Amino acid sequence: MFGGVEAGGTKFRCAVGTGPDDLRAEVRIDTRSPAATLGEVVRFFAANGAGVSAIGVGCFGPIDLNQASKTYGYVTSTPKVGWSQVNVAGALQEDLGVPIGIDTDVAAAALGEGRWGAAQGLSDFIYVTVGTGIGGAIVAGGRLVHGLMHPEIGHMRIPRAAGDAFSGACPFHGDCLEGLVSGAALRQRWGIDPATRPPEHPAWEQVAHELAAGLVNLILTTSPRRIILGGGVMEQAQLLAQVRERVFDLLGGYLGAPGFLADGIEDFLVSPGLGWRSGVLGALLLGERAYQDAGRA
Ligand code: ZN
Repeated sequence: MFGGVEAGGTKFRCAVGTGPDDLRAEVRIDTRSPAATLGEVVRFFAANGAGVSAIGVGCFGPIDLNQASKTYGYVTSTPKVGWSQVNVAGALQEDLGVPIGIDTDVAAAALGEGRWGAAQGLSDFIYVTVGTGIGGAIVAGGRLVHGLMHPEIGHMRIPRAAGDAFSGACPFHGDCLEGLVSGAALRQRWGIDPATRPPEHPAWEQVAHELAAGLVNLILTTSPRRIILGGGVMEQAQLLAQVRERVFDLLGGYLGAPGFLADGIEDFLVSPGLGWRSGVLGALLLGERAYQDAGRA
């Protein structure tokens, strides 16, 4: 049995169990200061974690995932106040005394979708979340892509619409993809919560176009067999259909591989099979991985 923590910018979700049909305990914690939030996580596992062999943490990033680094398992240069250079994995390891596996929140979600959700049986797929921020995990040849660090697809550049003067909301790059269409960016750009903007509003067309531009870059560079689009902004009911249409248009008939355009973009660009639980369920699998790694060490 494993523990899972989905560590997000606005909330943490913790769970104990073996999978979607066997969760023994779950809790949701608001993200506050690192000490207060991680303290609550520790209390949850102290109370509910009997029999847990390892805990996985899918954490908002960027995170240092280089195991040879002195700051392995730290959140690094996040814009989230108070969380830069915080040793998330180390703090939990010290207080809970079991192996801790850490990766990005989107990597956890991708693993969850691969085992139980919309990417079962696929060795090459991408999970993208469009929420407060934008993140993505790339699985290629059955493995999560990690190199210099982990992919940060939310910060890629896309062409700007002519005449669009919005300077963008990313504190690092201004008008990167996240700076244009994350939930936080949409709030700045339109002055209201995106969830309250009606589906027929023309602004959604622009959001769909900008998201599609980012997805086309990913499709052409990493050749996924499926892309899963999750996150709060994607809960806008018609947006997925609009994005599919724009991706199809932007590719201009360039890719005709079986399983993609030939068989229908509806099977290629999909919603998460596990809904909002992809991250916390996938974190259980990061725990499983940490347990296996500890056994080999
Ligand atoms: Zn950026």
